[in-house]
Amino acid sequence: MCLKYNISREMSAKGKVIKIGFDLDGVIINKPPFVPMFVMDLLVRSRRNKGLSYRFPNTKLERFVRWFSHSPVFRPPIEKNINLIHELYKNKNYELYVVSSRYSFLDKRTKQWFDYHCLDGLFKKIHINLNNEQPHKFKEKMIKKLDLNVFIDDDLPLLNYLKSRIKNIDLLYMEDNKSVIGNIGK
Ligand SMILES: [Mg+2]
Repeated sequence: MCLKYNISREMSAKGKVIKIGFDLDGVIINKPPFVPMFVMDLLVRSRRNKGLSYRFPNTKLERFVRWFSHSPVFRPPIEKNINLIHELYKNKNYELYVVSSRYSFLDKRTKQWFDYHCLDGLFKKIHINLNNEQPHKFKEKMIKKLDLNVFIDDDLPLLNYLKSRIKNIDLLYMEDNKSVIGNIGK
């Protein structure tokens, strides 16, 4: 089951403008090569709480490292998903959004990435986490505000959180840049 198949079914069923939200890192933008997943997880997730919790990089050095590693040079687009987004963009029945929990210090970096790859025109709006809220709370708030029909993310614990908080949305899981997408249901 591929991403395209899932979304096509959703669209034809409703026959109205379908709003689709995409996470950024791991869905549109590839993660940096040679960094194992468990290291990424250690960097991003907080270990203080047992529940869903993410770390904000508190030191200047840590923020610099994150900022540096988010250079467009180290973060290529995920081509198969970009191709899908191009196809969806051509059909006016769909509105495409980015909802990323990237923190405010990555605002310019994110704009640079879209400029560098000439991809910003594909989205009605690109939202990032400018107030540095906890990522799952930020995404919940934005998805409700935008009234999205579909949201695609590579963070399964986060999707499960959203599933418990938002009704009538299709939540699609993209596993570590593979083609297999699981619909975790409404
Ligand atoms: Mg992600």
